[in-house]
Amino acid sequence: MTINKEMFSLAGKKAWVTGGSRGIGKTLALTLAAFGADVAVVDILREEAETAAAEIRACGVDSFAVTADVTVEADVDAMAEAIRSRWGRVDIALNNAGVVCQVPAVDMSYADWKRVVDINLNGVFLTARAAGRMMISGGGGSIVNTASMSAWVVNHPQPQCSYNASKAGVVQLTKSLAVEWAPHNIRVNCISPGYIRTELTAQVRQDWQDDWIRQSVMKRLGVPEDLAGIVVYLASDASPFTTGSDFIVDGGFTCV
Ligand code: NAP
Repeated sequence: MTINKEMFSLAGKKAWVTGGSRGIGKTLALTLAAFGADVAVVDILREEAETAAAEIRACGVDSFAVTADVTVEADVDAMAEAIRSRWGRVDIALNNAGVVCQVPAVDMSYADWKRVVDINLNGVFLTARAAGRMMISGGGGSIVNTASMSAWVVNHPQPQCSYNASKAGVVQLTKSLAVEWAPHNIRVNCISPGYIRTELTAQVRQDWQDDWIRQSVMKRLGVPEDLAGIVVYLASDASPFTTGSDFIVDGGFTCV
């Protein structure tokens, strides 16, 4: 293996990003494109996904939007088929779609609990399984799942037990798939962001957001761009011995 900057190139690679129409997913889709990958933007939001795909094409790579609900098996199968018919394969799968529900456990409806687990954990399973199937026949690839620092700490003051539990599930699912698929040259890792400024966090009460900054080591929230470097590393040939790992990118939040 030659050590040079080409290790980080994604030129010619084919990628999908779920939840790619905005927030962390959109920034990471643009990041993969900036390093040369063709990127399919997968999202439940049709128009936003089309807009993101157009922005990605402006980077000089191929991109298209796929409308899919990651909790619907038929949607995920159709997404994989759309990508297979356009590119023949997928090399990088960033399974990132997720939602949060901040309600005390005693008041949380079972429907709300199931919705969060369905999108955050079952959706990652369905999309990772689709990627695994394509990558096994294609000779390998890199899967990156979006977990959260909430897999490791209980955030406060906001109550969000379904989110925390679902993200802990993503970490252990990631490790399990890494072991199952290592013989197929598929690496499976996850990233665990700390608080990142997106539409997801913008909807949270301002006094809670202020509290997060007070608790933080760097005295700021993150921005999606703070996650770009780790995703390029994991998606690229710079990380051939990295699998089954979780990368916490939280500005030191969970250190204290
Ligand atoms: P975001 O701005 O809300 O973006 C998430 C995207 O996923 C939205 O476009 C959303 O569409 C889409 N989505 C939701 N449910 C979907 C489904 N069933 N099928 C397909 N797409 C769906 O959120 P974000 O902050 O970028 O978060 C991205 C990921 O990072 C999530 O997994 C989140 O848990 C994780 N994360 C975020 C933070 C943070 O502080 N922001 C921290 C740690 C981890 P809708 O708007 O229609 O729901």
